Amino acid sequence: MVDIISRARWGARPPRSRTTVALSARRGFMVHHSDGPTTQTPAQIQAFHMGPARNWSDVGYNFLISDDGRIYEGRGWTTAGAHCPGHNTSALGVCVIGTYSRALPSSAALAAVAELYAEANRRTGRQLDVLGHRDGFSTSCPGARLYDWVRDGMPTTSPTEGDDDMVGLRQGDRGERVKYLQELLTKGGHSVGAAGIDGDYGPATSKAVLAAREAEGSKQNFGDRITGAAAKQIMSQFIKAHL
Ligand SMILES: [Zn+2]
Repeated sequence: MVDIISRARWGARPPRSRTTVALSARRGFMVHHSDGPTTQTPAQIQAFHMGPARNWSDVGYNFLISDDGRIYEGRGWTTAGAHCPGHNTSALGVCVIGTYSRALPSSAALAAVAELYAEANRRTGRQLDVLGHRDGFSTSCPGARLYDWVRDGMPTTSPTEGDDDMVGLRQGDRGERVKYLQELLTKGGHSVGAAGIDGDYGPATSKAVLAAREAEGSKQNFGDRITGAAAKQIMSQFIKAHL
C-alpha cells in the first residue's frame, strides 16, 4: 500500500464544495507539473488555486508529488478534479511539483508517480490510460522531459546488467551488439524476421523493438533506435519470457 499524506496531515484547507466521482468512472491517470520551483508546497499550490487567480473550490489536482517522493492527497480518489477540461471526471490529475521541460524529476518522485499509478490501477480494477496534460489540452504541461517519461510507460527499474550493450544502437547498424539485441528480442517472444539473428538491424528488427516496447506499455512509436528506456523494456520482455 502506498503511503499518501492525508489532507489533515499537510493541513489542507477544507474544500468550498466537491463533486463525487465513482472510482469505476476513472479511465485515465493524467500527469502534470506545477511549472514552478520544487520547493512549492501543496499548501501554497492550494492557496493559489483557491485564491483570486483561480478561485477554484480546492487545489485542482487529485494528488501532488514532491521532489523527495512524498505523495500528498489533493482532492483524492473520488472527487472530480480541476486539472484539465474534459478529463476532470474520467482522469485522476497527478501533479509532480517542479518544472520538467528540461530535466526529469528526481528518481524518488518518478518512483512515487509509478507507485501511485499502480495503486490507482489496483483501486479501479483496470489499467488506466496514462496521459500527460498536453494530451487533453493545448499546454506544454507536464514539460517535455516528464512527458517523454510518461509516454515511455513510466520506467523506474534500475538498469539491468547488459542494458548498456544495446543503448545507442540504431537501424542500419550491424555486428555483435545487434546480434545480442536480436537474441534478447527473439527469446523475449518478438521475431526479428525471416533472416533471424543475422546481426543486421533492419526494419524487421525495428518492428520487433517497437513490439517489445509496446508490450511493456510504452507509447513511443519508434523502434529504430535503442534508448535507455527501450533497453530496459526489451530486457524486461526477455526476463518475463524466462520466468
Ligand atoms: Zn497541467
